[in-house]
Amino acid sequence: MDNKTRTYEIFDGPDGRLARFASLSAYPNLVHALTPKGTWLLPPDLSVLEHSERCDALAQNQGLSGAAWLSQVHGNRVIQAREAGLLGEADALVCDEPGLGIIVRGADCPLILATAHGAKGWAVGAAHASWRGTVARVSEAMLEALLDLCQGEAASVTAAIAPSAGPCCYEVGEELREQALDALGSSGESFFERRDGSLYFDLWAANRAQMLAVGCRPEKVSVAAHCSMCRNEDFPSWRKEGKAAGRMAALIGIHA
Ligand SMILES: [Zn+2]
Repeated sequence: MDNKTRTYEIFDGPDGRLARFASLSAYPNLVHALTPKGTWLLPPDLSVLEHSERCDALAQNQGLSGAAWLSQVHGNRVIQAREAGLLGEADALVCDEPGLGIIVRGADCPLILATAHGAKGWAVGAAHASWRGTVARVSEAMLEALLDLCQGEAASVTAAIAPSAGPCCYEVGEELREQALDALGSSGESFFERRDGSLYFDLWAANRAQMLAVGCRPEKVSVAAHCSMCRNEDFPSWRKEGKAAGRMAALIGIHA
């Protein structure tokens, strides 16, 4: 796995331990970062105030003024961020205001960052795609809101899926498969694999397929393809650590 071209890298730099996607780093007008275990991992059980302070500190460290974040509820609601702080219950954010960051958080759940540009300029998006959110098509909902905001075409989208529970480890029950097939259609079949009597769900493939269905170019939707359960030394895992698991933040914003 490590011999393949990496779509992201972890950096131990003056800003602390952060990871960045190669594809999004190519845009000098954007800021983005993931927080693997280390300097910026969000501890469990933070108060709302502490959470806002941590999110703002991360955003300010990256040159933004602050960050909006969500009370995540495993659905497909998208909120447009116009100010920093906790914006409500939803699982995706979009933003076109320079200087304002948006943050989603997860331990095992795929976090998706995206950017697009169109008639109204640049916009960024972020989604928390748990299995429920994936089945509810949260990545599709985020991209549609993103394209609506910037009045852009899907071909302008660059998107990336962060390290999260992979098809190697993400075991699920039959009832989840049935719900997924009801929601995703027969094409959902390809996201499940049976091995040794157990069933595994490929959240990466399911979310990538949603983004391609919106019209994104395959070469512009990258997958980190590192599993938080296999690489628990680097990434928080709810399934491995339970309540002690911190949360990885995924931040994106447009430079002021
Ligand atoms: Zn794994």
